[in-house]
Amino acid sequence: MKVLVINCGSSSLKFQLINSEDDSVLAKGLCERIGMAGSRLVYSPAAQEKEIINEDMQNHKKAVELVIAALTDKNKGVIESLSDVDAVGHRIVHGGEKFAGSVCIDDEVIEAIEACNDLAPLHNPANLIGILSCRELMPDTPMVAVFDTAFHQTMPAKAYLYGLPYRYYENYKVRRYGFHGTSHSFVSEKTAQLLGKPYEELKTIVCHLGNGASICAVKGGKSVDTSMGLTPLEGLIMGTRSGSIDPAIVEFIADKENKTVEDVMNLLNKESGVLGLSGIGSDFRDIMEAMDKGDERAKLTLDAYCYQVVKYIGAYTAAMNGVDAIAFTAGLGENNSYVRKKICEYLDYLGVKIDDTQNEKRGEDVIISTADSKVKVLVVPTNEELKIAKETLSQIKS
Ligand code: AMP
Repeated sequence: MKVLVINCGSSSLKFQLINSEDDSVLAKGLCERIGMAGSRLVYSPAAQEKEIINEDMQNHKKAVELVIAALTDKNKGVIESLSDVDAVGHRIVHGGEKFAGSVCIDDEVIEAIEACNDLAPLHNPANLIGILSCRELMPDTPMVAVFDTAFHQTMPAKAYLYGLPYRYYENYKVRRYGFHGTSHSFVSEKTAQLLGKPYEELKTIVCHLGNGASICAVKGGKSVDTSMGLTPLEGLIMGTRSGSIDPAIVEFIADKENKTVEDVMNLLNKESGVLGLSGIGSDFRDIMEAMDKGDERAKLTLDAYCYQVVKYIGAYTAAMNGVDAIAFTAGLGENNSYVRKKICEYLDYLGVKIDDTQNEKRGEDVIISTADSKVKVLVVPTNEELKIAKETLSQIKS
């Protein structure tokens, strides 16, 4: 069967067409600058050169139309017609408390996703536009919603409640939700497979370190705690996000610089983190390059980043009363051996030992700890699209 995976952002649409027979990607791509001047589709069919299609995309519906035109194109297409798409899986950022798993999309589900809009105002409305556009163009194709938050719905109340008046939870559902759930679920399950251990018995800490970053404690296949919160701003220092800070800093900066709360939130989301600390940029490759040239702030940024990760690993080891495996994933987790090594150096107290040769491998599942390391450490490339495709198929089959 062929599953089209759609991930809509506010001005972008990422897609993959996956063949479920062998999990292969038939084609993938990205529509950029939707609703703006200079919009384009970067289309990459498997085993062929990628193509850049510069065309006006006033909205997401037009973007979906272009994607379908590319997929069914006589020369570069990978399917004959739209009817070859058996199902569509949509990545949805926030499912609130309503969704603890993936669901087939109907009117009721669309309404429930809409009801979560105020919890993810930048993401959910865009995700919904993706659903509605696809529904218009493929009314008879089953569609499934796969939520970033769903995997974390197993967290106990003691982990998801904040120290706020309880009425804020009761009235507005202010609580920790967590994100990157599809990735944490995929990577933790793969970790168990790679170690040949039953998923239900393993205590794993997944470090999803990308531009956005979060850590998750997975005990017996269930998320029991995670670093992102009500929004994806909490937790680790990220590319441009501050991560956890003293909440009083918001008022302090607003007073000092005569800013509104909205200004300060913007600063915390877009001008902070690695970008703000280093003054160089949000991409770790640039920070590494600057550090290698002797830039002290770049080094300090990397030190502060790794230190935060180490603190979460310690906290989650305590929360699970031990840890069997630590898995690194996402852009940085998969590609940056320096950061992994630096983090693991702190984990001496857990009996972690890293094999430097293994740690230099890239682009594959690899155990980077030594045979006698008490805790296994792995690099597991994440594959959120494949996970979404699998979830989609399992929903439409059931
Ligand atoms: P993501 O959001 O998962 O795409 O991760 C983005 C981060 O991963 C950036 O800070 C990059 O520096 C880092 N990254 C991505 N690809 C590579 C690579 N091939 N080598 C080193 N770092 C990378």
